[in-house]
Amino acid sequence: MPARDQVIRVNVESEEQILLLRALEQDTYWDLDFWLHPVNTEVPVDIRVPYSSLYAVKDYLRAHNIQFSVMISNLQVSHCKAQEAAEGRTAHNNGRNGIYSWMDGLVAAHPNLVTKEQIGTSYEGRPMYVLKFSTGGDKRPAIWVDSGIHSREWVSQATGVWTANKIASDYGTDASLTSLLKTMDIYLLILANPDGYVHSHTSDRMWRKTRSKNPGSMCRGVDPNRNWDAGFGGPGASTNPCSDSYHGPSPHSEIEVKNVVNLVKNHGNFKSFISIHAYSQLLMYPYGYTCNDALHAAELDSVGRSAVQKLSSLHGTTYKVGSICKIIYQASGGSIDWSYDLGIKYSFAFELRDTGRYGFILPANQIIPTASETWLALKDIMEYVRDHY
Ligand SMILES: [Zn+2]
Repeated sequence: MPARDQVIRVNVESEEQILLLRALEQDTYWDLDFWLHPVNTEVPVDIRVPYSSLYAVKDYLRAHNIQFSVMISNLQVSHCKAQEAAEGRTAHNNGRNGIYSWMDGLVAAHPNLVTKEQIGTSYEGRPMYVLKFSTGGDKRPAIWVDSGIHSREWVSQATGVWTANKIASDYGTDASLTSLLKTMDIYLLILANPDGYVHSHTSDRMWRKTRSKNPGSMCRGVDPNRNWDAGFGGPGASTNPCSDSYHGPSPHSEIEVKNVVNLVKNHGNFKSFISIHAYSQLLMYPYGYTCNDALHAAELDSVGRSAVQKLSSLHGTTYKVGSICKIIYQASGGSIDWSYDLGIKYSFAFELRDTGRYGFILPANQIIPTASETWLALKDIMEYVRDHY
C-alpha cells in the first residue's frame, strides 16, 4: 500500500451530495476505496484516498461544497503500528501458520470438546478448517459462526480466535454455555477467506476479496459476500471484476463460499448462522437484497436488540440493529440472506468496532475489549436460539 494515504470522512448533507459521491465512487480514475458507501444523510461516508489523488479529490469536494474531515491523516503509519501490535498479541503470530498451529493446540487442550474439520481448500490451495465444539451426538442442532470473509477486517478474525478460546475455557464453568453444549453444537470458521487474509498480510493491507483470477481482466478476486445464491447479481453488487464488491461470474463461483454451502447443506440442522464483519457497530438481520421485511423481521429485531444491550453492558459500546437493507444499504448475494432463505431463521451479521476513528486499522489494544463485548451478544443469541428453535 502506498504511503501517506488518508481516510477522509464526509458528513453528507443532501441527496445531491450523495449523487456526487456515488459518481465519485463509480469513477476508477482516482483509485478511491470507499470504506463506508454513500447511503443517506444519516450515515457518514469514509473514503481512503491514495496520496497521489489527495489534492484532486479534496479539490473536487471543495468545488462541490461538500464538507469533509480527515479521519486518518497518514494511513501507512497507523497501519504499521497496528500490525506490529496485533502480531505481538494475537494468534497472528508468525503470520498465517500461527492460526493453524494455534487451532491444533486448542484441539489438543480440549479433546473432549473441540475438533478441527477440514471443509475444503481455498482457491490457492490453503486448507479451510472449521472448529467444532460438541459434546456428542450426530448432527445435533447447531450454530454457525464465521469470521474474516472480508480479509481486511482483521478484528473479525481476531474475535474468532478469542471466541474459540472463550468457548473452550468456559465450557464446564459457565452454566449457560455448558447447558447449551449439552444439546447443540457450535461451528466456528475463523478464516472464511484464507487467501485474502494472507494477501492482506503480505501485499495489500486493504485487500477484501478472494484471490481468484477473473478471465479477461487484470483484476483479481470476487467479493465473497456478494457471491451467495441470494438475489445474486442484484443491486449493491458490481459486475466489474476490478470492484471491491464484484459478485463473481455465478453464484457460489468462489470455492471458499462453495465449501461453506456444502457443509451447511450436508449438515442440514443449523438453527443459526452468524457472520462477523467490521466496521460500523451494527447487528443486522436479513434481508440485504431487498428492503422488504423478512417474515421473521420482528422477532429477529427483538433478538438483536437484546443482544446489543448485553454487548453495551460491558464497555458502553453502542450498536444499531436492523435489516441490512434498511440499516446500511441494499446489497445482494450476502451470506446471511442465503442462510435465511435456506430456512436458518436466526441469521445475523455483526459489524464490529469502531465507527470510523480507525476503521479497518483498529488498534490492537481494542481487540480484547471488542471480542469480549461481542461474546456477550453472541451468547445471548445462542441462548435464545437454544430456547426457541
Ligand atoms: Zn465485511
